[in-house]
Amino acid sequence: MKYIGAHVSAAGGVENSPVNAHNIGATAFALFTKNQRQWVAKPLTEESIKKFKENCAKYGYKPEQILPHDSYLINLGNPDAEGLQKSRTAFIDEMQRCSQLGLDRLNFHPGSHLKKISEDECLATISESINIALKEVDGVIAVIENTAGQGTNLGFKFEHLAKIIEGIEDKSRVGVCIDTCHAFAAGYDLSTKEAFTETFNQFDSIVGFSYLKGMHINDSKKGVGSRVDRHESLGVGAIGESCFRWIAEDSRFDNIPLILETPNTDIWPQEIESLKEWAK
Ligand SMILES: [Zn+2]
Ligand SMILES: [Zn+2]
Repeated sequence: MKYIGAHVSAAGGVENSPVNAHNIGATAFALFTKNQRQWVAKPLTEESIKKFKENCAKYGYKPEQILPHDSYLINLGNPDAEGLQKSRTAFIDEMQRCSQLGLDRLNFHPGSHLKKISEDECLATISESINIALKEVDGVIAVIENTAGQGTNLGFKFEHLAKIIEGIEDKSRVGVCIDTCHAFAAGYDLSTKEAFTETFNQFDSIVGFSYLKGMHINDSKKGVGSRVDRHESLGVGAIGESCFRWIAEDSRFDNIPLILETPNTDIWPQEIESLKEWAK
């Protein structure tokens, strides 16, 4: 089964996100469980949690169809002790919010070395941050997203993801999310069938499809290897439409949330419809 949707708004309360997803014909969705640009948020209210669960049941969204995303401020590989502590505390709070909502995974960007520590030290710090969070919160899988490699962000090579996973004590509670725009910008070509096959063969041998817990389905404004993270609507960017057809047709991408983060939200219903059509 293909679960297809978009990163929808949770304005007015998390309980609105399943409604917003339903309204665009989505069978999957992503959301922020708090304001993604603030460190501290009010706890979720009992009422909000109850309504979120009711709306998910009403519109048929199970945890495997939902991919919550954490705040952009969090850096689990922060070389600065104070910044790292702040990030770890905020990440645990994000995990707890997911758990309260009955969700089983949390998607996040791995972290940045800020040119103060080596890549390996940063990756080890990220693994340690995840281990700490997994001990604090039960039932939520930490889903590491690949990045475009902008600035000092790690996670742009499949080897980075593998290295972080290697440092996780409970491997059943770690996963990855592959963003097609980020992969392409990081140098993994997806624009021809040959390149697509090669990229996902590499992914399978270095990380493994068993860890794949979600996908971000985005075309890219910038070229392959540009290391610039600019999403584009499907078929309009440098990746091209075929890649998204191949994903839709490929059973290795079944039963996980496939999430659009494309810039023109007005055409999300059509993009979702196309992906559903290609998946048939
Ligand atoms: Zn993404
Ligand atoms: Zn991005």
